[in-house]
Amino acid sequence: MTQSRTISMADACNSDWDVIVIGAGPAGTVAARQLALQNLRTLLIERKAFPRYKVCGCCLNQRAISALQQIGLGDIFEEFDAVPLKSFQVRYHGRELNVPLPGGLAISRSVFDERLVQAAIDAGAYFLPETTAMLKDSGAQEQTRLVELTHPEQSSGVAKTKMVLVADGLGHPSLQHCHDFESVVSHHSRMGVGALLAADDFSNYPAGIIHMAIHRFGYVGLVRVEDGSLNIAAAVDRDFIKKSVSPTEAVKEILKESGFPALAETAEGTFKGTIPFTRKIVRPVGNRVFVLGDAAGYLEPFTGEGMANAISEAIAVARMVPQGLLKWDPALEQAWLRKHHEITEGRLFWCRWLAQLLRSPAAVGLGLRLFHLFPAAARPIVARLNH
Ligand SMILES: Cc1cc2nc3c(=O)[nH]c(=O)nc-3n(C[C@H](O)[C@H](O)[C@H](O)COP(=O)(O)OP(=O)(O)OC[C@H]3O[C@@H](n4cnc5c(N)ncnc54)[C@H](O)[C@@H]3O)c2cc1C
Repeated sequence: MTQSRTISMADACNSDWDVIVIGAGPAGTVAARQLALQNLRTLLIERKAFPRYKVCGCCLNQRAISALQQIGLGDIFEEFDAVPLKSFQVRYHGRELNVPLPGGLAISRSVFDERLVQAAIDAGAYFLPETTAMLKDSGAQEQTRLVELTHPEQSSGVAKTKMVLVADGLGHPSLQHCHDFESVVSHHSRMGVGALLAADDFSNYPAGIIHMAIHRFGYVGLVRVEDGSLNIAAAVDRDFIKKSVSPTEAVKEILKESGFPALAETAEGTFKGTIPFTRKIVRPVGNRVFVLGDAAGYLEPFTGEGMANAISEAIAVARMVPQGLLKWDPALEQAWLRKHHEITEGRLFWCRWLAQLLRSPAAVGLGLRLFHLFPAAARPIVARLNH
């Protein structure tokens, strides 16, 4: 079922908003809900029709689940039979390592994000999908921010708001016209590639396990989601994709070399890609604008922390917005910089370390042998990444 708009473009442009939230991923939807619960007039804008597919491993770690439980959204997983995750199975050059997981759930992004949109609407937020938002540049003293809205087939318009939350994912496309929000992209960044293959004979990939194929030019994660479909998400060197001719061929090569079973031919042509993902915004805050989730920065998907970070930032920013509506000042900007660092940057030690290790075949081989001999050594790392 398509998630319908709850307001027209014309009405959105004729209203005065407390907050406009751009992007209906976990960051934007959770933020919009938390704001609406505080009786703030909140408009959530999404450029795609919902539900929509998103390249993602679809694994929620314990931190993400606890964050949702704390705000009263813990029961949404039962509604959709999200798949409990029991273990993490890594294969590299035919060698295999199994690490038990302390928790976690697999759920498709179309189902998960749509449910979060519904939670935002239920709390009183207005939802305007299939509409691209672009923030207009403004002077530092402006009390109002303007957001251009464009529907691909219908009219366009401008909406006024006291504050904007930018949660539009990698590359923060809605900030293209704002010079204060520059991003730095890592030269070595890989790109994301993903597909959701409809339920078929995936007995080689049992449910409840994150299957991870490692190769020197990237890695591929496979997991069964709520309806039995196989979600595939990969991080692959850009040159390797070019050399392999297509993302599908690159994924197939990684699976083959690491020792996982081949995918059925139906996988041809179904893969979607992302822009290079290792990037960060120089300053994720500016006059009446907070940037959060992937829009503020992203490192690597291997440790599966993206959604936990996005949700935690959404909850944190929603607590700061009322203060910013009363008075926007440098102290508030500093407070957000500290919070953003605490939630994301400060937690990235293991993610960075593992991302480096994965680029060295010798280190991966040695690491797998060590963890095979001393399985208990992997547990604290997995536990640290989950909390
Ligand atoms: C290969 C790969 C695997 C991953 N695996 C995992 C995993 O297993 N677990 C995990 O926790 N994380 C994983 N991640 C990370 C996770 O997908 C992101 O961290 C998470 O989606 C960030 O949420 P977000 O709300 O910030 O952005 P997004 O989920 O990207 O949502 C942004 C939304 O904004 C919309 N948008 C964009 N521009 C505009 C505009 N101009 N106007 C209106 N709307 C706009 C987009 O359509 C989108 O719906 C993975 C990432 C990759 C690349």
